[in-house]
Amino acid sequence: MSSSEENSRTKHESVTTPHWKAPLEPVPLLAHYRRMPTTSTDLMEEIRALKKARNAVILAHNYQIAAIQEVADFVGDSLGLSRQAAATGADVIAFCGVHFMGETAKILNPLKTVVIPDLEAGCSLSDSCPAPKLEAFLHEHHGKNYYVIAYINCSAGVKALADVIVTSGNAARIVEAAPADRNILFVPDQNLGAWVTEQTGRKMDLWQGHCYVHVEFTRESIHRIKAGHPEAVVVAHPECTLAVRLLADEVCSTEKMVTFCKDHAAQTFIIVTESGMLHRLEREIPGKTFIPGPTDHCACADCRYMKMNTLEKLRDCLANLEPRIEIPEDVRRPAERSVRRMLELSA
Ligand code: SF4
Repeated sequence: MSSSEENSRTKHESVTTPHWKAPLEPVPLLAHYRRMPTTSTDLMEEIRALKKARNAVILAHNYQIAAIQEVADFVGDSLGLSRQAAATGADVIAFCGVHFMGETAKILNPLKTVVIPDLEAGCSLSDSCPAPKLEAFLHEHHGKNYYVIAYINCSAGVKALADVIVTSGNAARIVEAAPADRNILFVPDQNLGAWVTEQTGRKMDLWQGHCYVHVEFTRESIHRIKAGHPEAVVVAHPECTLAVRLLADEVCSTEKMVTFCKDHAAQTFIIVTESGMLHRLEREIPGKTFIPGPTDHCACADCRYMKMNTLEKLRDCLANLEPRIEIPEDVRRPAERSVRRMLELSA
């Protein structure tokens, strides 16, 4: 990597600080806890006790393992969790999701301590659009005077370069509100961007990124599961490819999946998104049947990053207050502007 690339990365990518900025001290009981054999129930008790001691809130994405969803204060999609992060009065936010989600919480809460269970929990979609690459692209195409719309699944550096952020739940509404006289560049998910164009008719230039989990669903794998359950309603996430979206009865965000399945007269649904969503649906809609959409090589789809988080790591991050998310102010401030614009437009 050249020194200019290094400088650029330093400017745009968030960094984590291990311990020296800690306003709060590690909880001394942790060493004692670690000597004890633990069950999930014990761990959940420890987590609840630590949460109280820390005045912490636990936010968990719909794709987290069931045990983390059970112990969380709020479980939701990126939009719902961003709203919770913006409104919380807690001193500490433990964000159980992936790295860019912890960053979003920190962008909105610069004075709070934001921890994540595993620093390595990244995102293939976010990685497909590094901030220095986007910055170079915008420079190269400055004549297009792009209005940059960034899906929330991106780094703080990309959020800082964007005019507004969207989630899958509000993307169509925010794209419709974009200035009519500007060219739009939509980053980083080409499938979500194409779906939004189908919804709105607004032409956009699409960054060629994708989520490695959602592109694993194929026309053939969904045909096969539909053939085995002809009565089931198919609900797919817009990060899926067009070939899969065309087979779905409904394409929507994970949050909308909950209301859609609740209100629909059908009893059985095939859910074409990350497998963690099944737990949320089964918990909130008992009595209905949810079948995970299969890929060509497995019965359901797990995000390897989302599944890096465990109860043990959640307990440890609350006790140690690390790994912690920190973002340089010259990145955080412009990123906050684009995230808050999204919150205003989707209020
Ligand atoms: S499911 Fe896809 S978009 Fe979501 S965190 Fe995993 S890799 Fe990223």
